[in-house]
Amino acid sequence: MAEQKRADYASTRPQTDGAWVAAVEEGSPAWEAGIEPGMRVVSVNGVEPRDLIDWRWEADGGTCDLEVFDPRDGTTTPCTLEREPGQDWGVDFTDVLFDGIRTCVNACQFCFMTMLPPEARASLTLRDDDYRLSFLQGNFVTLTNVSDEEAERIVTCGLSPMNVSIHAITPEVRRSLIGRHADRGIEVLERLLAGGIEVHAQIVLCPGINDGAELAATLDWAEARPGITSLAVVPLGYTKHSRRFNRSYSDDPEAAREVVRLIEPYQRRAREALGITRFQLSDEFYVAARLEVPPAETYDGYPQFYDGIGMLRSFLDEASLVARERPGDLALVDERLGEKGLRLTLVCGEAAAETIDVFARLLSPSGRASVTAIRNDYFGGDVNVTGLIVSEDLLAQLPKDLNGMLVVLPEVMFNFDKLTLDGDTQERILDELERRGARAIVSVTSPTDYLDALLAALSS
Ligand code: SF4
Repeated sequence: MAEQKRADYASTRPQTDGAWVAAVEEGSPAWEAGIEPGMRVVSVNGVEPRDLIDWRWEADGGTCDLEVFDPRDGTTTPCTLEREPGQDWGVDFTDVLFDGIRTCVNACQFCFMTMLPPEARASLTLRDDDYRLSFLQGNFVTLTNVSDEEAERIVTCGLSPMNVSIHAITPEVRRSLIGRHADRGIEVLERLLAGGIEVHAQIVLCPGINDGAELAATLDWAEARPGITSLAVVPLGYTKHSRRFNRSYSDDPEAAREVVRLIEPYQRRAREALGITRFQLSDEFYVAARLEVPPAETYDGYPQFYDGIGMLRSFLDEASLVARERPGDLALVDERLGEKGLRLTLVCGEAAAETIDVFARLLSPSGRASVTAIRNDYFGGDVNVTGLIVSEDLLAQLPKDLNGMLVVLPEVMFNFDKLTLDGDTQERILDELERRGARAIVSVTSPTDYLDALLAALSS
């Protein structure tokens, strides 16, 4: 994001203006009370709900009094809902936040949004840092913009667990890394921990800034706080548009190994004392260090899976499971590829290529399946994950002639609206691949999903 936009950091940009009803389940208490999609819940038991947390908190009994606005005639009508024990109210809202999203007040050196291509979609540049989304959706937040009242609300309502970015513990390092509000984040975090809130923490590790002695100090601090039940260390990622960084752990195997060595005593102590690993490294460190990813038990049930912690291990273990439990289906895929004279390629980012190749070899021992790793030229730098593949790179790097190919695209490269990060549509990409002679499908990047998608595609 350009420097001149930094004035926006502290603003709250409303996304929605109220608790608008998206759907009502037929026969539910909300349906019986006459609530319909398009209406707005103005108050619950006399309280104007700010978000889904207020709604759940206020409407947790057997009855609730609502005021509902109907935009068709501009009226606001009171109604009372009643339900049986365990019954849902039957109403869904258009958003989980009814008063807009809280944006961040930080200026993190490593903020990915400062490294986006100038033409990146506006929605990518929204710097959300809303504690409510930490509880409701698992977003990582810094807590630097949380007021005393909000901290109190988190504790009182038991908004636990929370996902919190720590990054560093020494005040000067924190300030240099995330900006002048850094102290506030730790102040609030201490308060939440004292109030019994469980925290999953994260450190974005930047070479030469918060690694080495600072990382050890941060881990020491976290180790002394049992409320932090998991702490994940992820490496700085940078793009070619970064004006600050041009190297990270992916470029330095020895530095990655050093991080692996530094965290091991913390993991060992946690296992001895608590039976869990607690301190974990993202997959990128093991890939960069040319080390095998640790076994599944290291990941404590994968509490930070979507932060890239344990995805490779989970994929490899699932591939072994599929090989054991569905050998017939695997053989059928290879047989059908042969019958149809097709070769198969699984598309992914460079970081996952070696791991996905393990499954490609299981899919076709006869060598009909391969992996196509797409280099990320759009972002450049060390960006190599599957979720950030863009259409421009995909279409430039896949062969012009795809006759006889079955191409499997990763679902994660598309957003909810089936758009890529550079704004192309899934439909257009599939059309283009078919124009080049390929059969193309989209699948979740997991052995089971691959297998199911391929069996379906090859059955016709
Ligand atoms: S990394 Fe997150 S918290 Fe830091 S400036 Fe960017 S959006 Fe804000």
